[in-house]
Amino acid sequence: MYSIWLLVSFVASFHWIAYFVSPYEMIGAYAKGSFETYFYFTLFFTGAMFIDIGFIREQFCKYACPYARFQTLLMDEHSWNVTYDYKRGEPRRDKKTQIGDCIACNMCVVVCPTGIDIREGLQVGCVACGKCVDACTSIMAKENKKTLIGYFSLSQIETRGPIKWIRPRTVIYAILLSIVLVGASYKLITRLPFSMIAANNKSMPPVLLTDNRLRAFVSLRIQNIDPNEQEYKIEALDIRHNKKIQILSGEGTTFTLRSGELKSFSVVLETDVLTASEISESFIPGLIRLSNAHDPSLKLEKALSLKIPGT
Ligand code: SF4
Ligand code: SF4
Repeated sequence: MYSIWLLVSFVASFHWIAYFVSPYEMIGAYAKGSFETYFYFTLFFTGAMFIDIGFIREQFCKYACPYARFQTLLMDEHSWNVTYDYKRGEPRRDKKTQIGDCIACNMCVVVCPTGIDIREGLQVGCVACGKCVDACTSIMAKENKKTLIGYFSLSQIETRGPIKWIRPRTVIYAILLSIVLVGASYKLITRLPFSMIAANNKSMPPVLLTDNRLRAFVSLRIQNIDPNEQEYKIEALDIRHNKKIQILSGEGTTFTLRSGELKSFSVVLETDVLTASEISESFIPGLIRLSNAHDPSLKLEKALSLKIPGT
């Protein structure tokens, strides 16, 4: 059993790390017995997940989950939730006497995965799985009564009236949710099928050559998130003077990435001979452009300041 949990934890962690590192790269490195930093991250998350699903379990929901704490802030007495109908249920059965409908069978507590007693009121440990609703529904069915635990609001239990769906809180939430959905949909629709991070290489500072050309070293991290293999082109520009910057070495100006592949590499950039006034500006406002080699309209640009040393 533990080995299955461990395997599930490893597969889940591998997928999590694959958001940041190409899965091809990871599989290739593991096959060669090369263990890069991401391997230790995968190990860490595997261990954390194994301990969580194997040993901590519902204690995480009860004591650590931030979602439950956040959710309690969003709720009020009209919120629709798994709730115990204390008006009908209480006072619950006590030995021989029964006044309310709850027969104190405790089935709602027994089936609860987080071990809480919903009859004590809504608690942060409740994950709204509905198991107590099913348990009480079947118990009450034997008594020819309706369930005491169901999806109700507290005010509904108090007044027996309908749920008040439209109120300032729900209107504000709906507006906020719509803004998030529209923003997320826009980002999704306009999303480019590749990504790029470009940064000056910290371990190799730029050099001003004797003939006044600036040589700079840039680290790139490019990922193809298209379902198909794609060919890309990189270019570098001096945007202030609208001049091309030569790419001397690296992966070449065009290269191919498989679907999902992530490539990290460095390129060496070299400007034309800089004039004295360009040198006095102390930096070149550079731009790295990554575009699809067959569809230049699909392009991504990152601004990069290329420092001129000694200025
Ligand atoms: S909904 Fe699930 S977690 Fe919440 S009290 Fe009922 S059984 Fe427990
Ligand atoms: S399952 Fe229903 S009847 Fe049984 S203890 Fe829970 S609330 Fe009462």
